[in-house]
Amino acid sequence: MNAEIVSVGTELLLGQIVDTHAATMGQILAQTGIVCQRRSTVGDNFDRICSVLTEALSRADIVVTIGGLGPTMDDLTRDAIAKTLGDDLERIPEIEAELRDLFTSRKLRWTESILRQADKPTCARIIPNANGTAPGLICQKNGKTIIALPGPKGEFDPMAFGAVKDFLAHLSGEVIHSVVLRVVNMGESHVEDLLRPLMEAETPTVAPYAHPGEVHLRVTARASTQAEAEKVIAPTVEEIRKLLGQNVLPVETTSLEQALQILLSTKHATVSVAESMTGGELAARLSATAGSSQTFAGGLVVYSQAAKHKLAGITPALLASKGAVSDEVTAELATKVRDLLGTTFGVAIAGNAGPTVDTGGQPVGVVYMAIAGPNGVAVKHQQYRAQRADVRRRATQFALTWLRDEVANYSPES
Ligand code: ATP
Ligand code: MG
Repeated sequence: MNAEIVSVGTELLLGQIVDTHAATMGQILAQTGIVCQRRSTVGDNFDRICSVLTEALSRADIVVTIGGLGPTMDDLTRDAIAKTLGDDLERIPEIEAELRDLFTSRKLRWTESILRQADKPTCARIIPNANGTAPGLICQKNGKTIIALPGPKGEFDPMAFGAVKDFLAHLSGEVIHSVVLRVVNMGESHVEDLLRPLMEAETPTVAPYAHPGEVHLRVTARASTQAEAEKVIAPTVEEIRKLLGQNVLPVETTSLEQALQILLSTKHATVSVAESMTGGELAARLSATAGSSQTFAGGLVVYSQAAKHKLAGITPALLASKGAVSDEVTAELATKVRDLLGTTFGVAIAGNAGPTVDTGGQPVGVVYMAIAGPNGVAVKHQQYRAQRADVRRRATQFALTWLRDEVANYSPES
């Protein structure tokens, strides 16, 4: 069974909005075992919408349209679908009554064009819209299906992920279910090396995707229900966890910082930071998760030498003799901030994000990181070949990953 997506809207062609709904719909089709073979975008022009629909219907079993279901002159999708299917439009009395009630009760200005949203091609059944006025449509005729969804995200998402996904899964008789595992601390080829036998298996499939600072592993199975697919996936997920250990983030976490926060709070541990090169990026990520006040105390942004001296108490003599980006200064920053805020761990980052060699002679992309903890302080170095923003981001990711390892090895009694 195959499908095409038709996005309707001149603003899409002009690049004023990005077609995120088509991407969402592509994912939903994939998850319901339907092959999406083409996507088209067409402006708010009746004849052109009709011609795109006719073409798409000549190739695909299912056509999903996005947008153009509203009440205004440029909302033409409903009319174009009726014309293309050779249907008339008929008024749905319940929707008409709802619209009239809504406009009266909210004292909104009424125009007759509002009632266009109560029309549907005769073959269509409607998808109720709890978040807006125009219902979605499912039109089935001559062995073909057209599904029409409204454009506003608050209306599109609930319909697409709800009634439409259910309908598509029912139509295709299968679901394709995936679990995404997030792997930190390892490069893509290292992950591939360890998982090769699993990746060569037919079902479930295991596919790696490189993300900044992480590798994502998508484990996918095809089955008649989601529960069945989950059963097929589970042993492989278990096996991956065994092979990659704690480098795999827990499935229920959405980010490295969230996984770290959960770990910190189970161990009743806290963290503070002293940042030079990353300018607060580490603090931002440590505070991004709800509930992080339990585990993240705060920190210092000590960008200049003066700030390192005045805020973190690094002596000018040490700064002059070792340089701001050095083992000694970075270790001292981590230790000082840990002492200042009385946290279990203190993390410091210094370095040169570029684009030029710094005054201390450090090359672009060099990063010094230190973690001070109950057992003393350690320093690590990284050298990144990347643009400034990327160096900062990768340094932050590295520091979070390293901290997660330290916290995992920490036992509160020690
Ligand atoms: P309305 O009742 O608001 O007119 P509609 O169903 O007619 O809804 P459109 O007029 O096509 O939808 O689009 C309304 C808004 O929805 C757009 O301004 C845009 O913000 C959003 N939108 C429409 N299509 C897309 C899309 N493909 N991807 C992302 N957003 C979209
Ligand atoms: Mg509109």
